[in-house]
Amino acid sequence: SVAARRAVLKRIKDEGVEHVLFWFTDLEGHLKSFAITPNEMEGALDDGMGFDGSSITGFNRIEESDMVAIPDPTTFQILPRPVDDHGHELGAKVGRMICDVVKPDGTPYEGDPRYLLRLALERMRKAGFDTFNVGPELEYFLFEDDKGTETLDEGGYFAMTTQDAATEVRNDTIHALESVGIQIEYHHHEVAPSQHEIDMRYDDALVMADKTMTYRIVVKEVAAWHGYYATFMPKPLFGENGSGMHTHMSLFKGGRNMFFDPKDPHHLSKTAKSFIAGLLVHAREMSAVLAQWVNSYKRLVPGYEAPVYVAWSQRNRSALIRIPLYKPGSEQATRAEIRCPDPACNPYLAFAALLHAGLEGIEKGYELPDEMTTNLYRLSAEERKQRGIVALPGSLGEAVEELAGSELMRKALGEHIFPRYVELKRKEWDEYRTQVTQWEKDRYLAAL
Ligand code: GLU
Ligand code: MG
Ligand code: MG
Repeated sequence: SVAARRAVLKRIKDEGVEHVLFWFTDLEGHLKSFAITPNEMEGALDDGMGFDGSSITGFNRIEESDMVAIPDPTTFQILPRPVDDHGHELGAKVGRMICDVVKPDGTPYEGDPRYLLRLALERMRKAGFDTFNVGPELEYFLFEDDKGTETLDEGGYFAMTTQDAATEVRNDTIHALESVGIQIEYHHHEVAPSQHEIDMRYDDALVMADKTMTYRIVVKEVAAWHGYYATFMPKPLFGENGSGMHTHMSLFKGGRNMFFDPKDPHHLSKTAKSFIAGLLVHAREMSAVLAQWVNSYKRLVPGYEAPVYVAWSQRNRSALIRIPLYKPGSEQATRAEIRCPDPACNPYLAFAALLHAGLEGIEKGYELPDEMTTNLYRLSAEERKQRGIVALPGSLGEAVEELAGSELMRKALGEHIFPRYVELKRKEWDEYRTQVTQWEKDRYLAAL
């Protein structure tokens, strides 16, 4: 809008912003950025800024590499800066805007993950809803350095230690997040040593995907100010909990939560139940999007509060989907939580995949299977079979083949992204499966 543009130009001028970063995302969720000077800003707001997309992962080949980044004026923020001992901010004042990527003719670029999420939201509107509310819970580790071996503490869930180093980093992180317009609900030490969680207040999926990208970079930046290294790697430490990105979801229409039904024992509407059924039916197919790395599957194993089996439950943390009970019976708070995504996903693709799976359930009228109240980690293979419970893919290799065979995910990712994503992930898996690890040496070198 004209007002939003004018506000951006005014803030740049009034606050003495020296550069503005244009942000977008590649296929695997890496943040991409280039800087422009304030002089260029007016033109860039009108026509966008051209860039060469040929070396962006999953973007176009050489022959069609001209891309244009159109900044979204509603996303303008001034990035947080470290302060010196006297509280003075250091370094240049830098603004940033999230961009949509278009082709030189101005039409949306099908390889832009943000556009893909826009398409998913369009499907949602056609299905009669107006808002997909999403609340991701990103967990992460702080390490002494980028080797990722030395933790800062012994930790523990909700551990209340004295004002230790990590608490200070977390407090600074929260301030930095709030300074870029990200509202924080709560934060705590997580189960593993040096593991933390800062939860954002839920928001519309597109806004939340932008916030998730921002969250990751801010968490890493603030850790670096303190001389530490933050990582969203799903399972950095063997034998400890990994980092998840549990994602809470609900569909709204005209301010009403369409997942809520006060008469249902779980307070879930038929819409919610079909949505959850959609997530369950398509869980294996979308796994390579929600948990996209080789390492993601080291997290999805029994015993570490991460899901392994495709089932739902009111409270059981071993189930894939949980119905949180924080404010039972409250319309606004009624939602489903899916636990398999990890914080190293591409949030645009992840939210799009989840929405498509849920909408598929609604449109096709899927029936929600019975709730699983037992600890699923403890069921034998035979018992799981009897109850019809399948497991999530056990590796990226398995996940990518499930994805490759999925009609729904082909539709969700589109004809441009789908084949490129499958190819990328097959390559990653191939590279990994031919490695010879220390574990194998230890086990087999002297075995026979
Ligand atoms: N860290 C666990 C995971 O990998 C989740 C712990 C929790 O319930 O917050 O999903
Ligand atoms: Mg947690
Ligand atoms: Mg959770």
